[in-house]
Formats: sequence, C-alpha cells, structure tokens
Amino acid sequence: MSIGAVAAQEARKGALMKVQWPNGKVGYADLHPWPELGDHDLSTHLDALRAGKISALVEQVIWLAKRDADARKEGKNLLTGLPKVKNHFLLNDSTKLSDAMIKEIKSAGFTTLKVKVGKDVDQEAKFIARTIKQNTWLTLRLDFNAKVDFSQFERFMSQMGSAERAKIEFIEDPIPWDLDGWREAAKLTTIAMDNELDKVDPERLGSVGELPFKVVVIKPARQDVEAAKDLVSKFNLKCVVTSALDHPVGVVHAAAVAGEIKKILPNNSLEAGCLSLRSYKPNDYSSRIQVQGPYIQSVVGHGVGFDDLLAKVEWTPLKK
Ligand code: MG
Repeated sequence: MSIGAVAAQEARKGALMKVQWPNGKVGYADLHPWPELGDHDLSTHLDALRAGKISALVEQVIWLAKRDADARKEGKNLLTGLPKVKNHFLLNDSTKLSDAMIKEIKSAGFTTLKVKVGKDVDQEAKFIARTIKQNTWLTLRLDFNAKVDFSQFERFMSQMGSAERAKIEFIEDPIPWDLDGWREAAKLTTIAMDNELDKVDPERLGSVGELPFKVVVIKPARQDVEAAKDLVSKFNLKCVVTSALDHPVGVVHAAAVAGEIKKILPNNSLEAGCLSLRSYKPNDYSSRIQVQGPYIQSVVGHGVGFDDLLAKVEWTPLKK
C-alpha cells in the first residue's frame, strides 16, 4: 500500500470526455462535479450539454480538452519542457494520519501537508497542534471549505499558539464569503481563496482596499485559468494550482497548468496540489503517471498522455 492510499469511501461519479472539433482535432478531459460543494450532479451537467447548454464545469472541460487536442495535433506532451512543481500531501481525513504514515510522507520528500478540516474544530485543533509540535519539518495548509462560522473559526485559531501559527502557511475558505468576516479572519492567519471565489468580484474589492486573501487556489477543472492568473498578477498574490480530486486525466491537466504558471509567474507560484492520485484506488490511468516523491514527473503519450487507454474507451455519443 502506498502512503495515504485512502480509497474514497464510496465511488464518485465523473465522466471522461472526448471532444471533437469540426477540423478533426480531438482532445480529452474529465468532468467531475462535487455535489457536496454545491455542484449539480453529473447527469444534470450532461443533460444540459445534450440540450446545448454549457455549464461552467463543462466550459473548463472544453478548454482543457482543447489544450490536449492542440498538443496531440503537434505531437507534444503537455508536461514536456515545464518546470517541475512540488506538491503538497493531501490528507482528506485527519483521523487517518498514523505515525507510520507521517514517517513515509517525510521520507518521500513531502514538506507540506494539506488537511481538510471543519467537521469538529476542537478535535481538529488538537490534532493540528500536535502534528505541528511533533513534526517541525512540516508546513501545514488547512481547508475549511467554508464549513464553519466565524466564531468556530476563531475558536479554532485560539487553540493555535504562535509556534503553530508560524507553521500554518494558509487557511483556505475559512468561512462562507463575506468581506468583513474574511477581513477579521485575515487578522488571525493568511487566508487563501478557493471555492468562494465565484461569490466575489475581486475587481471591485481591489478598489475598496486590500484583499483579505493573499493566496488563490487555481483549479483548472473548475475555474477560468486566465482570469485567475490575471487576478494573481494584478494583486501580486500567491497561487496554488490543484487538481479537483478528479480522474488521473484531470491530474495531468492540472500538473501541466501548474508547470506553465510556474514558468510564467515563478515568484507567485507556491507548491501545487495536483498529486491527488492517492485519494483513490490505483487504476490503469493512475499507474501510468510517473511520480517521484512530491513531484509528478511525466506521463507517456501525447497531450495528457494515456493514448492507448483512451483509444480503447467505448465512447458514448452525447447526441444520438
Ligand atoms: Mg479548497
């Protein structure tokens, strides 16, 4: 078993998408909604597409598939020639971090651990404080997914001493978006913006004063990458490119975008979060991705790779 091989509790629903353009170009991406985070489910996206309506997630599928199609057409691999980006280690369930696992994480070369929190702030605060004390080599990123209110967030932070706070690189989506609340939260730690971004008009915010977040999480599967990149440059923010905890095709797409952004904005790019393969049981696709410690090294094939596997898929046309 590889480190953190925590298979999803139940199967998740997503679709590999093959997009064909009238000029004959073909590219691939994956559609992986998160109904838990407020997305419509898979069939709703596909039904809409069948009716000619393109959801925001499907728009990203098409954008990514176009990148793949262009690379395939040119006989290029999307990861070739890009700087390697180090990834954090993702911990979906803080109750599952054993001493043996943390040793393995360390020896694999990871130095940053991302932990999803927001279920039980007191228990999680104890866990985070203990993990930081016992592992001084480790930097932590926490993600509340806006699941708590300000008083719970404050209670969590009150349990972090200065030594712990110094080891928390940032906290993502601490509470549901609200400018004043986020400004208060930003007094307690560095805040990162992820899923709440679609509720914000950063252009307007910038004219009002300093942004309450210093880091933007860019998920190519979910967000307009060009707009996010502009936001990062305009306000000189840091960015973290992550997968959407989706199919290995999405992992390679995210890794390619992470490498490109690091190439263009080296001083704004933090460690990425594309290495989410361990969140699922290995499959034919995930085993093709060459991983070395915290780095995604390469994948064989054109575009995002997997040429032979994608050729074997029995595709179902959306329209009959
Ligand atoms: Mg997040």
